Amino acid sequence: MDLSPIPDPTLAELIALRPHLSRDALAGLMLDDVPLGAIADAVGTPVWVYAADTMRARYRALAGALKNLARVHYAVKANDHLAVLALFAAEGAGADVVSLGELRRVRRAGIDTRDVVFSGVGKTPDELRAALAEGVGQINVESAEELEMIAALARAMGKRAPVALRVNPDIDAGTHPKITTGRRENKFGIPAAAIPALYAHASQLAGIETLGLAVHIGSQITSAQPFRAAFAEIAALVGALRAAGQVVRRVDCGGGLGIAYRHEAALSPEAFAGALRASLDGLDLELIVEPGRWLVGPAGVLLASVVLVKHAAPYPFVVLDAAMNDLLRPALYDAWHGIVPLADAARAAAPHAIVGPVCESSDAFAAARTLPPLAPGGRVAILDVGAYGAVMSSTYNARPLAAEVMVAGGGFTVIRPRQEIADLWRGETVPEFIANRPACGGAVI
Ligand SMILES: *Cc1c(COP(=O)(O)O)cnc(C)c1O
Repeated sequence: MDLSPIPDPTLAELIALRPHLSRDALAGLMLDDVPLGAIADAVGTPVWVYAADTMRARYRALAGALKNLARVHYAVKANDHLAVLALFAAEGAGADVVSLGELRRVRRAGIDTRDVVFSGVGKTPDELRAALAEGVGQINVESAEELEMIAALARAMGKRAPVALRVNPDIDAGTHPKITTGRRENKFGIPAAAIPALYAHASQLAGIETLGLAVHIGSQITSAQPFRAAFAEIAALVGALRAAGQVVRRVDCGGGLGIAYRHEAALSPEAFAGALRASLDGLDLELIVEPGRWLVGPAGVLLASVVLVKHAAPYPFVVLDAAMNDLLRPALYDAWHGIVPLADAARAAAPHAIVGPVCESSDAFAAARTLPPLAPGGRVAILDVGAYGAVMSSTYNARPLAAEVMVAGGGFTVIRPRQEIADLWRGETVPEFIANRPACGGAVI
């Protein structure tokens, strides 16, 4: 949020803190050594650009810190592009999905369904039947009601559903209220106090195979402390369940690892591994983790062009050709994203309001951002949009979905072309009772 008294990082600091970004005197801002201006020239703007090598390096750093401790299941909802999923599949990742669409995406990208966890508070009977038929490795149960539903569906199919009960540990993850999930008042999971009885009941159900417990307390968590508190509570529950004679093989520790958007200290893989180790190592458990944002967030930028600069007080409005329909996070979560001009600018910097063209006042990327003067046609990169970026896009204001590009090995590939205008109404029909009405004034268009 822009309310903090701490000054924003400078453009140089934003770049220096991100090893995948660099500035070349001639080529301008580069992502994994590929000039972003060349991509904007070739593909136009707005365009999402993802750095494959950075995603891979981040996966390896996290999987390396968790070696012999926990297996990584990528949380698909952060960025579900097939190329991203295929990249993690090639690294040996499993996946965490929250819908049938995501399940089909990960299968298409080559992830084995046995390595898929199906999460979510409202999995429908159709989705659950498909998950069972396709052999999903684990279904996380979010309520007693859902447990009964899964048990009945599995029994009718002659199967046993492999489940973990998702615990709501009532822990404040210290993150934005819209992305905290582990408080009692959140809709997620089962209160810890209700777990022992429900676990015992689940283990008696013919359609259920109880694997263990799951927990996920929220997103963009930048301190190890809430993780330590949650994992300690889970470890205590595992002990209580085992003391009561239950078999607990697996704990799914969720995701939520935070990244540095502005001044936050990103959670390091080592600090997260330390939090896991403190409570859950040595308990003869299979541990899995479900990070999304941490793996892909820093590896993506959104390139936009300046449409015009509208002079206004207190700050001029810089109107971009990217908008909240492309990147929703500032409007939805007051998210702060670095904004860096592609071209080097020697001239003095002053505050600007950076906005999109959509007909909503919340279509603003920054209220007062200190940037060098921007002119129509100038280009900027909005940073750290690899997670919860393109996946949250809509076509609001009949704006086509932006193109997506992946850079690797010094070059780039378009991995989804910009949506065509005519695709905006593909599948829509005008019913006969409207189409047959004589048009006012007889005009037919
Ligand atoms: C969203 C989500 C994740 C991933 O969260 P990140 O903050 O992107 O790491 C993991 N598990 C569950 C159940 C989720 O809902």
